[in-house]
Amino acid sequence: MNAKYSGKCLCGKVSYSVNAEPMFSGNCHCKDCQRSSGSAFIPAMIFREKDVDIIGEVKYFESQADSGDTHSRGFCPNCGSQLFARFSGMAGALGVKAGTLGKL
Ligand SMILES: [Zn+2]
Ligand SMILES: [Zn+2]
Repeated sequence: MNAKYSGKCLCGKVSYSVNAEPMFSGNCHCKDCQRSSGSAFIPAMIFREKDVDIIGEVKYFESQADSGDTHSRGFCPNCGSQLFARFSGMAGALGVKAGTLGKL
């Protein structure tokens, strides 16, 4: 596999590959990200959703962000690893949690 970026969850049931550069990347320190990850912040890269190939079943949990947008967090239903994020204010974009990156 020659994808520019790839990664998977802890158990390996969900994996993804991306053959494009992210639109942007950054760290989110919001309280919801801290709470959902149990960590100080979540490093994420935002891609165009159509550039991301996902293999496996992903569950999404929706919450309301401070901005009023709906934030859907995608995780593996088997091991609970958070991999993806969707935002109602950014149609067509998919966030990838950078901690899940790595060779498949
Ligand atoms: Zn998993
Ligand atoms: Zn956040």
